[in-house]
Amino acid sequence: MTVRVRIAPSPTGNLHIGTARTAVFNWLFARHHGGQFILRIEDTDVERSRDEYTQNIFEGLQWLGLTWDEGPFFQSKRLDLYRKAVQTLLDKGLAYCCYSSKEELDQMRAEQEAKKQAPRYDNRHRNLTPEQQAAFEAEGRRPVIRFKIDDDREISWIDMVRGKVSWKASDLGGDMVIARASDEDAIGQPLYNMAVVVDDIDMQITHVIRGEDHIANTAKQILLYEALEGKIPEFAHTPLILNKEGKKLSKRDGVTSIWDFKQMGYIAPGLVNYMTLLGWTAPDSTKEIFTPAEAAKEFGFERVNKAGAKFDWDKLNWLNGQYLHQMPAPELVDLLIPYWQKAGYEFNADSDRPFLEQLAGLIGPSLNRLDEAVEMSNTFFTQTVEYKAEASAQVQQADAKKAIGAIISALESAQTLTSDDAQKIIQTVTKEQNLKKGLVMKSLRCALTGDVHGPDLMQSWVLLHQHGLDLPRLQQAIEK
Ligand code: GLU
Repeated sequence: MTVRVRIAPSPTGNLHIGTARTAVFNWLFARHHGGQFILRIEDTDVERSRDEYTQNIFEGLQWLGLTWDEGPFFQSKRLDLYRKAVQTLLDKGLAYCCYSSKEELDQMRAEQEAKKQAPRYDNRHRNLTPEQQAAFEAEGRRPVIRFKIDDDREISWIDMVRGKVSWKASDLGGDMVIARASDEDAIGQPLYNMAVVVDDIDMQITHVIRGEDHIANTAKQILLYEALEGKIPEFAHTPLILNKEGKKLSKRDGVTSIWDFKQMGYIAPGLVNYMTLLGWTAPDSTKEIFTPAEAAKEFGFERVNKAGAKFDWDKLNWLNGQYLHQMPAPELVDLLIPYWQKAGYEFNADSDRPFLEQLAGLIGPSLNRLDEAVEMSNTFFTQTVEYKAEASAQVQQADAKKAIGAIISALESAQTLTSDDAQKIIQTVTKEQNLKKGLVMKSLRCALTGDVHGPDLMQSWVLLHQHGLDLPRLQQAIEK
């Protein structure tokens, strides 16, 4: 059997982190089994679906590297297939026309509520006679199509994450609508559960992997598989992504779309690695850094947790950092240039490229997110340096002034400044002025950058020197 899985987003918003994580699990599972990963756009909800969201979903999946093998298929282009299946159910007597008006249904719900009963359709039109039907038609009523649900049934499946799951059919809310009413004589718009099952049968989906919020749909869908005589796939319901408070991660938590994460400076390999670990643990639970291909080798649902997966920003930052730290400077610089440009730093992306690459190489090992590069590189793009209080206090010490003065003299007679030259100057100054190396280094860093912390000092100095920024800053510091 070839494994065939699908991701089936509804284009009613930008690619959501929950959908992306489901896509990651589907993708890993498909790759693990050498199977197929299919993309299906569930755009039957005409009012809420938008092309721009569909585009965002494509771009998001591509950016994450979650390449699909088939599709995209659009449900809006497959309506005839669903209508045919609805007709099959009508022909088999497994579905029927329901003429209840909105007012009648509202009244029925109000009565149920008054009796403290769960709201459900009471199947009142299940057995209409042809005369009753004709009478409703004569009134101008247009029917929805309902699928019969046998209340006595219990629906069970062995979930790949949860083990045995059982639902009483009587908890499914009565006979379910599978197609809306239509003004014409044809069957109206087919509804979600119907379209999904018809597609999953038609696309020969072997494993349905989706969020746990779909569990009740699965129970309904199994009944539809049986009615349509389709092969029931395996199901895996993945845990929800939770915020710090243990509630479902939502817009209120700041970011929910993949684009938000991209904007915040996360890179695709870091984010995919993080999503892989949102609910799944590797057989070697100490191993956390994986390329998608490595994770795919080990991925399976026996190690996916039932409980909700807490979103942990610190871990995401750390993981993202692991990828940034290893990224070669020529690659990293392309990702950083847009951030520097947006910050208004002045440079020419072509002619200054060697400098920018060195800068990327310098700060890369300290970055957890791309946007952090803005503050970290500020000092390399501005003429004047702003001193933080601690740095200002440092350069005002007598020994610091002595060190900086000696560095200035050494620098004035130097032709070039490589990292080695810089090291030598520090050594000489330390020795000749009889100062501690730590003090010399700290004073130099404060004078050059206005900060006590920062990336590699020798490299920073070399870069500042290339733009003639070091000498004026040292002079400025000594006059403080
Ligand atoms: N369209 C559904 C959603 O976006 C997915 C349904 C499914 O995977 O079966 O939640």
